[in-house]
Amino acid sequence: METKTKKFKRDILNWYNNNKRDYSWRETNDPWKILLLETISQQTQLDRADTYFKLFIEEFPSPATMASSSLKKVLILWSGLGYNNRARRLYESSKILSEKGFDELYPNFEVLPGVGPYTNNAILSFAYGEKVITRDVNVDRVFSRYFGLNNVENFVHNNKQPLLNRVSSRDLNQAIMDFGSMVCKSKNPLCSTCVLEKNCEKNIVKIKKSKETFSGSNRELRGALLKLLLNENIASLETIQKNLKTDKVKLLKAVSTLEKDGLITIKKNNLVEINS
Ligand code: SF4
Repeated sequence: METKTKKFKRDILNWYNNNKRDYSWRETNDPWKILLLETISQQTQLDRADTYFKLFIEEFPSPATMASSSLKKVLILWSGLGYNNRARRLYESSKILSEKGFDELYPNFEVLPGVGPYTNNAILSFAYGEKVITRDVNVDRVFSRYFGLNNVENFVHNNKQPLLNRVSSRDLNQAIMDFGSMVCKSKNPLCSTCVLEKNCEKNIVKIKKSKETFSGSNRELRGALLKLLLNENIASLETIQKNLKTDKVKLLKAVSTLEKDGLITIKKNNLVEINS
C-alpha cells in the first residue's frame, strides 16, 4: 500500500512539474549563487528577489569580486531591500569565501556570518545534492497541514529517509517551497483546488500575528539614515536630524544600532560616517 509520504511526494512533484516558476537560478549548483539568492530572498518576495539577484550576480559573479569591492558598494546595490545587516553579513562572508572557498567549508557553512540551518541546508541540497530538507516557514506550514503535525522538526528528523529516497532533494525542496507560497499559503490556502487535498489532514492553525508597524519605526529611520550616508558619506548629527526631520532620541538610537551592526562609525565632533 502506498504510504502517505509516498503520496505526498508523488502529488507535490507532479504539481511542481506543471507549475514551477522559471527563475535563472533554479537549476544552478553554484554555491555562491545559492548563498546570494537565499540571503536576498529572506523576507522578500521571489520575483523581487530575482531582480536583485540578477543585479548582484552581474556585479559580483564570485565571492572574490565582492570581497575586493567595498561594503558601501554592496549597500548601494542592496538599497530598497531593507534589513541592511544581511548585506553586511554577505560582504563579510565573501571575505571568508575568497580565502577558503565553499568546498573547504563543506558541510558546515554556518561559520559564515548570517548563515543558519536553513541556508546551510539550501547550499547542501542545491549545490551538493545532499539528501536534506530545507525547512523554512513555507515548508513547515505545508508539512504541518498535510501530515497533521505539531512538531515538524521531529517529523522531518524521523522521516528523512522515506521523504528523500528516490527523489532529488533539490526538486522536492523547491516543490514544497513553491507549493507553500502559491497554494498552501499562510492566509487563504487554496484547498478547494489543491491537488493534495484528498490525502491532506488540513491541520490549519490560525496564527495571530502582531504586525510590526514600519512607519515611524527604528527600522525605517535606520534605512533613511543609511540612504543619506550612502549619498553623503559623512554628515553631522545635526545635519542628519534636520534632513530626516526626526527627534534626537530616536536618531541616537538608530545611530547606535547601526554602529553596533558595523554599518557606520561615529567620529569626533558628532560626525557619522558610512563604513566602506
Ligand atoms: S488541502 Fe489545503 S491545507 Fe492541505 S495541502 Fe492543500 S492547500 Fe494546504
